[in-house]
Amino acid sequence: MEENCGVFGLFSADKQVVKDIYYGIFKLQHRGQRYCGIATYSSADIHIITHKGFVRHTFTEEDLHLLKGAVGIGHVSLKDRQPVILISRMGKFAIAFSGNILNSIKLRNQLKNEGHSFSSETDIELLGKLISYEKDFLNGMIRLSEKVKGAYSIVMLTKDGIYAARDPYGFKPLILGKKDGSLAVSSESRAFDILGMEILRDVEPGEIIFISKKGLNTLTKIKNSQPAFCAFEWAYTASIDSVIEGIPVIRARENFGKKLAEKDKNMSADLVAPVPFSGIGCALGYHHSSGIPYEEVFLIDRFASRSYTPLTQESRDEEARIKLSVIKENVRGKKIVLCDDSIVRGTQIQFKVMELKNAGAKEVHVRIACPPLVAPCFYGISTRSYRELAAKKFSVDGIRERIGADSLKYNTLDDFIDAIGLHKDHLCLSCFTGKRVEER
Ligand code: SF4
Repeated sequence: MEENCGVFGLFSADKQVVKDIYYGIFKLQHRGQRYCGIATYSSADIHIITHKGFVRHTFTEEDLHLLKGAVGIGHVSLKDRQPVILISRMGKFAIAFSGNILNSIKLRNQLKNEGHSFSSETDIELLGKLISYEKDFLNGMIRLSEKVKGAYSIVMLTKDGIYAARDPYGFKPLILGKKDGSLAVSSESRAFDILGMEILRDVEPGEIIFISKKGLNTLTKIKNSQPAFCAFEWAYTASIDSVIEGIPVIRARENFGKKLAEKDKNMSADLVAPVPFSGIGCALGYHHSSGIPYEEVFLIDRFASRSYTPLTQESRDEEARIKLSVIKENVRGKKIVLCDDSIVRGTQIQFKVMELKNAGAKEVHVRIACPPLVAPCFYGISTRSYRELAAKKFSVDGIRERIGADSLKYNTLDDFIDAIGLHKDHLCLSCFTGKRVEER
């Protein structure tokens, strides 16, 4: 899952917002570590600063001092610097988005043929151009929703307030928060916790909202067939302390583990352990259901992270390998149930099983929260391809053999859906079924 970003926006009736936006995007950092940026509005102008690197490593006190205003937006990304500013006939605006535009080449070519020029190949510039084509921001956002195919959440800062929108299927999460006179919109609810804000509600799929002095307004809702919330958010992408569509991520992850334990009635392991971090909830659920003691077997090296997430598969594997050390005293001579979120190629879980065995583990039984991944993400949320997917090339037993585990089990699709707790027709499950949501 590589192509993630996080968006945040905050409108306050009377106070400077930059510090809160800074904390907001800091709490979304797990969604993108390569670039970060903040834009605010004051004194009839938009002020913007973007950096390469982590929020906490790059924004200085001086930056925060320069970004004045009671309204602003922020962004973290693996792909490019955002927000970006565009100057249109409606005035200056800043825009940021989380997601992927599947038909960007076609849309860009259409605009070029109509005489428009671009200064970059980025999707965010394309979205800005689509919006500024219209006479007002609302019609610009509607045009964008009608033209763009893909998964996205958008925030846009104008002199009058913040526009925000979610794609008509609602693939990417977007949630509203409030506190006193302030209203916020965020990719994940955990950004509200640090600001003492409460969850107001999720932005609905296809909904275009406007936050201003007058409060929160739904401007329109683009017609959709049915929502298709990305199921991977609960399994991997979102942070364990977030709530999406009213479902706490921790609850879904614990349920994944419970479902796996229910199918393992005869398991007599010494301990159940997670692959940190995304296997933690699953391991806890397995432990609660089975009564097998929960232990940590891997220690995450706090200083292993580089300044940004590397983009090649090889360097990601290398990062994964060096950032975890085995806690040998917990492992030696033990029969271990090891929980992880998913298996893409199988190389990372293979390293982990090998390291546990090298440290003296007697047996390692791998349990996976998601069903086997049989298709790439058709909506551009991840760049994995068919040829990378272990489940496309090997049987479950073939994968077990390759990763060196004593046993391997995945959740079934039905158990996975039950564990999340939403109706299957409201979820995108395409990477587990191979069927696009349009074919449901
Ligand atoms: S295909 Fe998979 S990763 Fe992509 S939106 Fe659907 S559930 Fe999420």
